[in-house]
Amino acid sequence: MGKHDKKKGAKSSKGGKSKGAPAPKQMVFRFGKRTDGDGTQKALLGGKGANLAAMARMGLPVPPGFTISTEVCTWYYDNGRRFPDKLAKQVKDGLRSIEKEVGRKFGDRRDPLLVSVRSGARDSMPGMMDTILNLGLNDVTVEALKRATSNGRFAWDCYRRFVQMYGDVVMGVQKKHEHDHEPFEEVMDGLKREMGVTEDTQLSEEHLKELVRRFKDLVKRWTGKQFPDDPMTQLHGAIAAVFGSWNNDRAIVYRNKYKIPHEWGTAVNVQAMVYGNMGDDCATGVAFTRDPASGENVFYGEYLVNAQGEDVVAGVRTPLPVAQMARDKVLSKSFGQLEKVRKTLEKRFGDVQDFEFTIERKKLWMLQTRNGKRTALAYVRIAHDMVKEGLMTPEHAMKSADPEAMNQLLQPVFDRTGYEAARKAGRIMTKGLPAGPGAACGEIAFSASRAEALARQGKHVVLVRIETSPEDLRGMIAADGILTTRGGVSSHAALVARQMGKVCVAGAGEISIDYHAGTMACGGRTLREGDFLSINGTTGEVIEGQLGTADSELKQVLVAGTMKPSDSRVFRDFDFVMKLADRYRRLGVRTNADTPEQVRQAVAFGAEGIGLCRTEHMFFEGDRIDAMREMILARDTDGRKRALAKLLPYQRSDFEGIFRALEGRPACIRLLDPPLHEFLPHTKEQQAELGHKIRVPAEEIERRVHELHEFNPMLGFRGCRLGVVFPEITEMQVRAIFEAAAAVEASGIRTKPEVMVPLVGFRRELDLQAELVHRVAAEVMDATGQRFEYQVGTMIELPRAAIAAGQIAETAQFFSFGTNDLTQTALGMSRDDSGSFLPRYQELEIAKDNPFASIDVGGVGELVDMACRRGRETRPDIKLGICGEHGGDPSSIKFFEKVGLAYVSCSPFRVPVARLAAAKSAVELGTVPKVGRKADKPAKAAKPAKGKKARGGARR
Ligand code: PEP
Ligand code: MG
Repeated sequence: MGKHDKKKGAKSSKGGKSKGAPAPKQMVFRFGKRTDGDGTQKALLGGKGANLAAMARMGLPVPPGFTISTEVCTWYYDNGRRFPDKLAKQVKDGLRSIEKEVGRKFGDRRDPLLVSVRSGARDSMPGMMDTILNLGLNDVTVEALKRATSNGRFAWDCYRRFVQMYGDVVMGVQKKHEHDHEPFEEVMDGLKREMGVTEDTQLSEEHLKELVRRFKDLVKRWTGKQFPDDPMTQLHGAIAAVFGSWNNDRAIVYRNKYKIPHEWGTAVNVQAMVYGNMGDDCATGVAFTRDPASGENVFYGEYLVNAQGEDVVAGVRTPLPVAQMARDKVLSKSFGQLEKVRKTLEKRFGDVQDFEFTIERKKLWMLQTRNGKRTALAYVRIAHDMVKEGLMTPEHAMKSADPEAMNQLLQPVFDRTGYEAARKAGRIMTKGLPAGPGAACGEIAFSASRAEALARQGKHVVLVRIETSPEDLRGMIAADGILTTRGGVSSHAALVARQMGKVCVAGAGEISIDYHAGTMACGGRTLREGDFLSINGTTGEVIEGQLGTADSELKQVLVAGTMKPSDSRVFRDFDFVMKLADRYRRLGVRTNADTPEQVRQAVAFGAEGIGLCRTEHMFFEGDRIDAMREMILARDTDGRKRALAKLLPYQRSDFEGIFRALEGRPACIRLLDPPLHEFLPHTKEQQAELGHKIRVPAEEIERRVHELHEFNPMLGFRGCRLGVVFPEITEMQVRAIFEAAAAVEASGIRTKPEVMVPLVGFRRELDLQAELVHRVAAEVMDATGQRFEYQVGTMIELPRAAIAAGQIAETAQFFSFGTNDLTQTALGMSRDDSGSFLPRYQELEIAKDNPFASIDVGGVGELVDMACRRGRETRPDIKLGICGEHGGDPSSIKFFEKVGLAYVSCSPFRVPVARLAAAKSAVELGTVPKVGRKADKPAKAAKPAKGKKARGGARR
């Protein structure tokens, strides 16, 4: 085995289920004329294996082969990287079956069967694992292949490719540093120089023979081992290498990024070779049934004549657009076949397909198909079109969504005026292929490590590479945009960029890059590492220097109102998908907003109310802070009340604005939460200035700041503790809320205030605050003669609150889970200070995700679940929501769907993410409401809780 064994820290499968367990009975599943598996078996056969089986069953032309299941991979890792005893026999039988179907024998001296060996995980991980082609060649079979095909150059080209791939993947002959050349490429370039040729295709059969000799020498020098001649040994080596590649660095990085479980393992597909490199009536290509960047319904893809599989994806030669094949004299018939396949695939799989094909002497062969990865722009357009065309089910449109990616649609585009100026100044350097839409601007980095380093410093980066390989993955994650000078729209860079939602321009061939000098040159201009570069992944333009950005079309339509909906295709697609999501989701979606402006934005994005209004944010505006500080510094209750009276009108007008912006939607308003000292000035100058303004000696202010100092303010005098100790603060706030409600109701607009008491741990805390709220509500109603509906509830932010939820619910009409504090207090991990150790915890899989971003299901999630159950036991119609940051996180939303919350609340711009995530979760969990969504309606008048007389809640 090769490089993978040596990898430090390579993870074994975490499943451990098959440790000591017997190997699975059936390990090998055939496809071809006889097909054992089917398209539903992705977990067992991997995505590639299952879809090969599906295509074979559909009668599409699939070269026969077999899949070694993912169970074998798991067993292999759990048993010290050993193959099960019976695997060799089953592999042999699988080979026999291929031999029978194609009429050639593996290792045969007359007409040898060659095979490809490819990885194939349950979820596709493009380019992350290994592939070996032309396996089965040696000095004898190569000559047999030559005779059988009457094509010596072809046979030796296959052989040199095989030695190169096997040497790299299985035997570990690879470059050691990022900027090194590939060792095999170096040998090949040397030979080309000696022979005075520039293209691979100019190498003759004799040259290729020499190349194979030199490649084998390289392997011997590098590894001390002879290149294996025996085809069976080659095959077993390749299978082990593919299993091993499950745990190579880039595959691990990829799985971490996309949350693919490490214990899944990969399948291995062994398949009869078909050749795209036998001559000009042969080709190989990659195609999408629709454009995965824009979503347009056009046949999209690329092919290379006389080439083999990996050439297209590797981006070594820039391929031709697939539509051009229609005009190719030799291959136009094959194009017709491809067009048919395109339609058949969409119909069968109900989604856009990304497929690989080979044309061998004008005959089309399908090598794989999978659901195509796409940008968010393409996702909404494809979902819109295909659902309307009846090709995609609405459920699939929801299931296949990547809610997080909706943010891409809100990304800025280049500012028109800035762009025009740049164009006039001649700063547009060149145009490449538009491979990942959007606008990116940043400092140039020529290597992945540099891109990472710059991003760590908080800088924006454009990663510029001749071509990218999977090793560049970390740099691509760090960069804002990616520019390559070689490779087409299906190259690795383009594929991965699209999936990550990164801006990407590929194949900008006019640019020449010199890694050693750290420069990129084009049209007489040279830029260096660290210079600014702007790239437009929608048009392919590469622009020198910095360019300003403007709002996305969605924002222009929804927020700024500077664009008409009918003028924006993306808006119409987005709107279709969002409305679909609204039909499928059960969860309500509210927003965390503190100003009327934020409310309007959130409502434009579909928010159904406020889930959290943090009132303290209102105290920082203008000179309100002075009144706030006066209140905190007051020596007694009267002084405090005087200062609070100054704050009351401010708060009242803020709430009025919010109620009006909400237009009758509910508003969950939280009473003051942070520790008081956060509002005080901390420097001597600030203290002196404040003293002057409010006529209090600076020393007095300094003393009070000192008094209020806390060692652990997060666990100190904050939350409801403030209102319990200084009830006049709560009184001012609720009076402002209710007076605002009365005023807005008087103008004919409904209001639904929900007064939320923070950081409650004991029922009595809530009782004291609730009594006050009810008293003030009654006073305001009496004074104004206005009736309004309101509720009183609490946040569940402390483990004690979750435990005592049953008692707390006797008073609380609603719970809103403050999962930021609940995570902090349940884990005993500061939400502000855990950055120093959490990344390591994630690496070690102590915590799989950051628990402050994605709910810790096993711990905090249990508390949420328990509080829900206990709360409902006391008050069956209690309204349950979440307003911590987790409310906008798709995987947490799935958990909240499971426990049956009524709504999630998140920041305004995440509302579309939450709507889609809620719909996706409902479809996946089978909780789609039968007749429309009716969650998040304000609870009816509160029932008397266990014999107690209810006070609040009713419209009095
Ligand atoms: C919470 O704790 O989850 C919460 C929403 O409150 P804050 O973030 O303001 O503490
Ligand atoms: Mg909190």
